[in-house]
Amino acid sequence: MKGDKMLLKKPRTSEKDVIYLALVDSISKGGCPICRTLEKSENNLIWIILYEHVNDPYVREKINKGNGLCGYHYKKVIEMAKQDPLIGGLGPAIIVEDLLSRFVESINTDTPLSTKCYICSELEKTEESYIASFVSKLDTTNLLSRYESNPESILCYKHFMEIYSRLPEATAQKLKEIQLKKLNSLLGELRSYIEKHDYRYIGTITENEAKSWTKAIEALVGSGWSALFQLKPKGKHSKQ
Ligand SMILES: [Zn+2]
Ligand SMILES: [Zn+2]
Repeated sequence: MKGDKMLLKKPRTSEKDVIYLALVDSISKGGCPICRTLEKSENNLIWIILYEHVNDPYVREKINKGNGLCGYHYKKVIEMAKQDPLIGGLGPAIIVEDLLSRFVESINTDTPLSTKCYICSELEKTEESYIASFVSKLDTTNLLSRYESNPESILCYKHFMEIYSRLPEATAQKLKEIQLKKLNSLLGELRSYIEKHDYRYIGTITENEAKSWTKAIEALVGSGWSALFQLKPKGKHSKQ
């Protein structure tokens, strides 16, 4: 009873949950909000594995079961270990010692191994949960107007198509209008940046124009881990 009263006193509004706040934060930072949120989760996950879970049998077992990580994530591990003095080489060494012995054994016994990256598997689940939350919050909170009001925030093609295909018709059409407006404005900046390189042009390139080509690349393929894998949009609103 006591617990019920406390819940009544402090109702949890749907707008104030953690994922909503994470999505608002990633919209405010610019770039693709799903890619940016995923990059943050990816860095946290790698850091936790290397710093806290090196000796955790559960996590070690998960990594061993998949015969290690993909090349992209080994590269991230190396970067993080070299940049963060709290991590250093010991954590990664403990992880790869197990794995190297498995690979030695595999050669010894002529039993080929294939790798299923533990970090990729976790990120696939996180990506799905962020996409599902984005879709639900666009339809039920002020997330769409927040997205509209920051011109720096542009969903990448993959994430736009996925979210667009899952939204109810009316919200999907609003998102499409907003997305086209953002992309056409980016296209304008890109064209202006190119034109201003003409030797006859007298004037300066604006900051937005200078950033336009990197923003365009992120709009095309996203950023970080997400840019490596293309989802297959279900195409609910697309012409078949
Ligand atoms: Zn994206
Ligand atoms: Zn991976």
